[in-house]
Amino acid sequence: MRCLVLSDIHSNLVAFDAVLADATAFDVVWCLGDVIGYGPQPNECIERLKGLPHVCVAGNHDWASIDRLDVSDFNPDASRACMWTREQLTGDNLAYVQSLPERIVRNDFTLVHGSPRHPIWEYIGHSSVAAENLAYFDTEGCLFGHTHMPAGYVSRRRGAGVEEFALPLHTSAPLPKGRLLINPGGVGQPRDGDPRASYILLDLEQHTLQLHRVEYAIEKTQNLMIAAGLPPRLVVRLAYGW
Ligand code: ZN
Repeated sequence: MRCLVLSDIHSNLVAFDAVLADATAFDVVWCLGDVIGYGPQPNECIERLKGLPHVCVAGNHDWASIDRLDVSDFNPDASRACMWTREQLTGDNLAYVQSLPERIVRNDFTLVHGSPRHPIWEYIGHSSVAAENLAYFDTEGCLFGHTHMPAGYVSRRRGAGVEEFALPLHTSAPLPKGRLLINPGGVGQPRDGDPRASYILLDLEQHTLQLHRVEYAIEKTQNLMIAAGLPPRLVVRLAYGW
């Protein structure tokens, strides 16, 4: 089975469609949350995802957009975008977001948005945090998002520390042996200085993975955001990938 692993679509349909057009050869989508929030097309992104064979976990922006989290914890721009998103969601799509679980186990992977320890909120941005999270999932691997930055961490044997490994870009490589924590980066709002949409292809038969970055028409999303009256800072950041 070939899995398209993606996260943080953030209502950016133009980026999401560019990923789907680029990835093509996959059997299922594993989505790591934050389908909505920030961007201009929340309903369209949910509907696109619903049309694909997929599983999806909940992210903090998904919950904030359905009133399950208090947006006062967000920065003002993120909070405004969540309140705007809440007004847009159709009844069906609201019910879809309400149905998203915090954690899903598929094959030998645990899927979460933030971390297995705190699925909605925690950021794994360092190997020390990845190491602390090893005790919070039972599978060989964990797939997570939330930081909008691609990353790979491996603990090669029991009791060994966790080290970062480079995800193979635009080429296929064997999955490292050991316990893994892997982040595919962000589709709709990358934050690693590269504005291209990010995703991973994981082949469960071959035990390989590949990271991909794909260009999309950023200005199309930006124009829709301006028309929707979304915060200017959120519009600008897409061009810089932060
Ligand atoms: Zn996010």
